[in-house]
Amino acid sequence: MKSYKSLGSLLLLSVLAAAQSHPHKKSAKPTASPKSKAETARSIHQSALIIDTHADTPQRFLDENFNIGQNTPVDQGHIDLGKIKQGNLGAEFFSIWIEPEFKGHYARRAMDLIDSVYQQAARHPDKMTMAFSADDIVHAHEQHKFATLMGIEGGHAIENDMRLLRDFYRLGVRYMTLTWSNTNDWADSSGDVQDPNVKHHNGMTDFGKDVVREMNRLGMIVDISHVSDATFYHALLVSQAPVIASHSSSRELTNHPRNMTDDMLRAVRNNGGVVMVNFNSAFVDEHYRKVSSDPEKLKQRDAEVEAFKKAHPHPDGSPVTYNEYAPLEKKWASQFPRPPLNSLIDHIDHIAKVAGIDHVGLGSDFDGVTSLPQGIDSVADLPKITEALFQRGYNREDIHKILGGNFLRVMREVEATARRLQTEPSTTLSFSEVELMLANRASTSRIVERISEHGVDFDLTPERRARLKAQQAEDAVLDAIVKARRK
Ligand SMILES: [Zn+2]
Repeated sequence: MKSYKSLGSLLLLSVLAAAQSHPHKKSAKPTASPKSKAETARSIHQSALIIDTHADTPQRFLDENFNIGQNTPVDQGHIDLGKIKQGNLGAEFFSIWIEPEFKGHYARRAMDLIDSVYQQAARHPDKMTMAFSADDIVHAHEQHKFATLMGIEGGHAIENDMRLLRDFYRLGVRYMTLTWSNTNDWADSSGDVQDPNVKHHNGMTDFGKDVVREMNRLGMIVDISHVSDATFYHALLVSQAPVIASHSSSRELTNHPRNMTDDMLRAVRNNGGVVMVNFNSAFVDEHYRKVSSDPEKLKQRDAEVEAFKKAHPHPDGSPVTYNEYAPLEKKWASQFPRPPLNSLIDHIDHIAKVAGIDHVGLGSDFDGVTSLPQGIDSVADLPKITEALFQRGYNREDIHKILGGNFLRVMREVEATARRLQTEPSTTLSFSEVELMLANRASTSRIVERISEHGVDFDLTPERRARLKAQQAEDAVLDAIVKARRK
C-alpha cells in the first residue's frame, strides 16, 4: 500500500477534475464527497485488467450443459457472460477439477472438462476467446473479449505420467495445483495430511519434484493451493520459476489448513510469486469457519450427501458429481450467517502487508464454494472489492496490481523461465529421460552407453532405484547411473 499522502493528492486531483468539468460545483469544499469517491473507485475498477485465477464453472458446462451466454440467478451460478461484463472481469482461469471418485479415468475426465471450456469459447466467439499466455490475455482485453484460460486442480490428473502432463500443456492448461484435497502418489495434500489411513510422503517424492521441474520447463505455472505445508516448501525449493496459490487465503486470520501462514506468505514473496485470495466464507472468516466446522453438523451434511448419491445413481455407473449434490451443500451452508465483506478485504490487506503489494491477487473460487461474504453474490460484484480497497487507502496503481497486474507479471516470468530452460538444454540425462528410454524399450547396452556418454543429473535414491526396477531396468543400468554420478 502506498502512503496516505499520495492518496490524498489523488483524491484532490479527482475533486479538482470534477470541479472543472462541473463549473457549478466550484464552491464545493476540497474534500472528496462520498459520490466522487465512489466514482473514482468505479473508474479504477473499469480501467483495470482484472484476472481471477479460480472458478469451477467447467463442471456446469460439462455436467449441466450450462451455456455461459445465459443469465442465471446467483443462487444457481456465480458466472455468466452478463455478470462477467458487469464485474469487468478480463480473464478467468477455469478449473479442470478432477474428483477423486473418477479413479481410473482421471485424464479422461480432465479431457472432457477441457473440451467443455473450448466449446463455450466456440459458442461465443464475439465475446470470449481462449488464451494461453500473458500476451494473449492483454490482446483479448484490447479486443474487449473475455480471456478464457484453464488450470488443472489436482496433480492426480496426470496419472503419474510426465507425458500426460506435457499433453495437458499442449491442450492449453497453464497451471496445475500439485494436489487437490487428496494426497496423490507424489505429493501430500493439506486435506488429509492428518489422516493416518493415507500414505504420505513427507512432502513430495522425487517424481513429484521432477513434475515441478517439467512444469518449469513447459511454462506451466506451479500452483501450491491445497498442498500440505511440507509439499509447499519442497515446491519452492525445487521451482526455478515463481509459483502461485491460485485460491488460498491467510491462516493467521482464518485458521484453516487450506490457508497460508505468514511464513509461507514471506516465502512466496522471496520466490517472486503471488497469492490469489480465496473468497470462500470458511477461508476468510474465523467465526464462520468455527461454526461451520462443527463435527456434528458436518456429519449430518456428509450423511445427507451420501444418501443423495445412493438415491441418484448413474445408469452407467459413473460417479455422482459435485454439481448434482451442490444444492444440498448450499442449503446446509445457508444455516450459518454470511460473514461481512470486510473479512475478505482483511485477507487481501493482510497478504499485501506480509507478502507485499506485488504478491497478492484474486482467486475467487466462484462456482466451487457454498458460501460467500455479504455483498459478493457473483462475479458481477467485483467492483465492491475495488471500492472497499480504495476506502482503505489503496491507490489506483496498487489496486490494479491486486486485480490482475501481479498475476500477469508472474505469468510472464514463468514464460521467460520456460524459454530459458528450453533454449539452454542440459546435456546430462534427467531421471524422466532414463525412464522414457526404458518405456520405449531401448536396449540395456544403448541406455548404458547414453548414461556414460552424457552423465545424469540425479542421484539414485532408493525410491528412484525401485521405480527403475519396476520398469525392468537391468542392474547394468543402475550401476551405470551410480558410476556416472561418481564422476
Ligand atoms: Zn480448490
